[in-house]
Amino acid sequence: MQLNKVSVDDINVKGKKVLVRVDFNVPLKDGVITNDNRITAALPTIKKLIADGGRVILCSHLGKPKNGPEEKFSLAPVAVRLAELLGQDVVFANDDEVVGENAKKAVAEMKDGDVVLLQNTRFRKEETKNLEPFSGELASLAEVFVMDAFGSAHRAHCSTAGVTDHIKDTAVGYLMQKEINYLGNAVETPVRPFVAILGGAKVADKLNVISNLLEKCDTLIIGGGMAYTFLKAQGKEVGKSLVDDTKLDYCKEMMKKADMLGKQLLLPVDTTIAASFPDPIDGPIEVSNVDVDAIPADMEGLDIGTKTQELFAEAVKNAKTVVWNGPMGVFENPTLAAGTIAVAKALAETDATTIIGGGDSAAAVIQLGFADKMSHISTGGGASLEYLEGKTLPGIAVIADK
Ligand code: AMP
Repeated sequence: MQLNKVSVDDINVKGKKVLVRVDFNVPLKDGVITNDNRITAALPTIKKLIADGGRVILCSHLGKPKNGPEEKFSLAPVAVRLAELLGQDVVFANDDEVVGENAKKAVAEMKDGDVVLLQNTRFRKEETKNLEPFSGELASLAEVFVMDAFGSAHRAHCSTAGVTDHIKDTAVGYLMQKEINYLGNAVETPVRPFVAILGGAKVADKLNVISNLLEKCDTLIIGGGMAYTFLKAQGKEVGKSLVDDTKLDYCKEMMKKADMLGKQLLLPVDTTIAASFPDPIDGPIEVSNVDVDAIPADMEGLDIGTKTQELFAEAVKNAKTVVWNGPMGVFENPTLAAGTIAVAKALAETDATTIIGGGDSAAAVIQLGFADKMSHISTGGGASLEYLEGKTLPGIAVIADK
């Protein structure tokens, strides 16, 4: 499935003011950007619009300011970094109300190819509620709207959706296009065998993802904390492992669904256990490896075991498409990262198209040094998960179809 949305390749922006929603929600420490991946990811679209003679007005949220403007959530450091990366001036319109005197003046003075960055859209309380007058104010700055913030596309906010009530000339940027083509192809028209791997903490967070992916994939692998609820649903003793007792019936239903659809559902066969959750999370911990039938009542499963690492790696070997979301264990701890590393390695070694859902699995793959071995690492955790659930993302739906 190719994205059937108008893209920046289909529009003429020469001399026009283009409002671009990007995802500049970068990690900051003491006002310094610690990782500029999200800025880099937005560059292709920004450069394209500059080259086409557009007047590029960028907007984004940063962090979660609770009660309006807060200096620590200012996009000022992003403007500086962006100017360095682009090699041209970026005018930062520092208005507490986002669309204020500075923004209006900066936009009025723009020439073709200029770039203005607005202040954090969440400085306005309407933003996350998608309310007026903010949507209208944002829209009043421009004639064209480009959505390129995949990481925010699952939210209907003023800057991701509301503006399109006022601006009808809309398009997606290259980052959105790339994300949706990878995730969309994987889920809708995967080259088979298609193996989906899910991990992470809780079953409850991924109910719809499990159900939707079971229908689409050939093999569904479940690891991480959520595997123990499945194991308990099979009647196994899981000790002190993370379990959601309210989801036992759900897990049974999913195992039945896999059977009925003739899909392979792989669960851990052994596990790395410890007396308790590591505290601090990356502190030293004494572990042992046991089969999932032999978890002592006073122990906690914190990673997949060695036999499971092999089982999962084998399942991935002949795959043609692999989607992975969620770590296999408490990967923040070096002793409990082995399962996640083994899966990352297996993905790095297969010639399948490998797609990493954002969030923790993306962080794990990058942190473990496997990033350049993957076909695609999504920039959106929540957004990619909702996409894998089969949901229509509001930030995509509002953009004009081709
Ligand atoms: P999620 O945000 O749902 O992808 O979950 C990621 C978190 O799940 C990470 O912080 C892991 O430490 C945690 N996690 C993975 N496996 C386990 C486990 N067996 N027990 C407890 N937490 C886990």
